Amino acid sequence: MFLLFGLKTMARELPGRPASCQYCHSFAHHHLEERSTRLTVFFIPVLTTSRSYRITCSNCGRMSSISARQKNALARG
Ligand SMILES: [Zn+2]
Repeated sequence: MFLLFGLKTMARELPGRPASCQYCHSFAHHHLEERSTRLTVFFIPVLTTSRSYRITCSNCGRMSSISARQKNALARG
């Protein structure tokens, strides 16, 4: 029996929204990206081990990591 395990990071583009940038302090559209690390068996993702989110300001281009809770607050807004 031979099992091939691996980890794979996948990025997914989510709909962003306008928000106040903490760097340039302008109200600009922010891109939202979800990055998830998945455990793979024979290159097939079987479960997600961690998930993180990043927002990028479209005005100054600064990127910041946010928690899932902050991301949900953004999505609700
Ligand atoms: Zn900015």
